[in-house]
Formats: sequence, C-alpha cells, structure tokens
Amino acid sequence: MYDFESQIVDIPDYPEPGVIFKDITPLFGNPEALKAMTDALAEHFAGMGITKVVGPEARGFMVGVPVAVALGAGFVPARKPGKLPRETVSQSYELEYGTDSIEIHADAISSKDTVLILDDLVATGGTVEATGKLVRDMGAKLVGYGCILELAFLNPREKLTPSDDDVELFSLVTVD
Ligand code: 5GP
Repeated sequence: MYDFESQIVDIPDYPEPGVIFKDITPLFGNPEALKAMTDALAEHFAGMGITKVVGPEARGFMVGVPVAVALGAGFVPARKPGKLPRETVSQSYELEYGTDSIEIHADAISSKDTVLILDDLVATGGTVEATGKLVRDMGAKLVGYGCILELAFLNPREKLTPSDDDVELFSLVTVD
C-alpha cells in the first residue's frame, strides 16, 4: 500500500488551540499520491454495483469525484444548509458543541441507487453517519463508507455500528 501517511501534515493548534488538524492537501498536490488514493479506494469498492458516490462538503468532494469516475458512478454533493439551489432533504447531527445539518438535492438519489459515502477524514463519525441516514431515508442502498484518514481513538466505528452493522468503514490510514 502507498505511504499515504507521509502525505498528511499535522498542524498543531488549528483551527483552535489544542486541536491537531490533519492537512490532507499535500496528498492532493502530489500526482502519484492522488492517483494511488483514487485507485486504492476504487479498487476496494469495485464490483459492488455502486451507482452514486456521496461526498460531504468540502473535502469529501475532492475524494469523492475522482473515485466516482474510477468506479463509473455519479457524484452527489452533501452540503451545509442553504448551499444547494433546488429542493433538498436534510439531516441534522450532533457536534461536540451544538448541532449541524447536511443537505442533498431531493432528486439526486433514488431507491434505484447503490451508494458509497466518501470523505477525507472520519473523526467522531457524525458527518458520515448523518450522510448515511439521509441516503437511506431517500430509499437508496448504502454499501460502504470510505476515507483517507480515520481517527480511530475517537471510536467512529462504535457510532456507525449500531445501525450500520452491514456497512463497512474502509480507511487508507488509521490513527490509533
Ligand atoms: P466527524 O463528523 O467524523 O467528527 O468529523 C469529520 C469531518 O470533519 C470531515 O468532513 C472532515 O473533513 C472534517 N475534519 C475534522 N477534523 C479534521 C482534520 O483534522 N483534518 C481534516 N482534513 N478534516 C477534518
């Protein structure tokens, strides 16, 4: 497996003191790493009949689009409230402090779709879990979650497992 970890930079105290932000932009700036990331995710989820990849704003777009192309699937953006121009469906989720919500165009996914959710990083799992709920509420079949980096010490799999025991989280890099 490609050394994806070498392409991710730790930024201490960003965006606030005490937080170590994982900057994945060097991976995207390196053509070899970008191709390896696309191939590794697409190969893992190949053969599952995926018709749509859904990616949460904004780094989920960067991961989701190239993998969707490699899988021969479409791409659907999941966005913060008020950003999409047509009728949307919405799902709210808990943050450390307060709540947030995520929206998808109401006609972007149907019961005919088989869906993969991709984001750059899974921390608590709240973002991908809410996106998964939305996809299921829209009647589609959710077959996987994928990311470049999983912060395993925040136990996202515990959050995803109770309702999603048939849906796997696949991560290229895991931080314990
Ligand atoms: P979660 O909802 O799993 O707690 O947080 C994951 C979401 O927050 C993802 O959409 C991800 O882009 C963003 N995020 C949280 N922390 C980081 C970080 O350190 N680096 C990057 N690149 N994204 C982060």
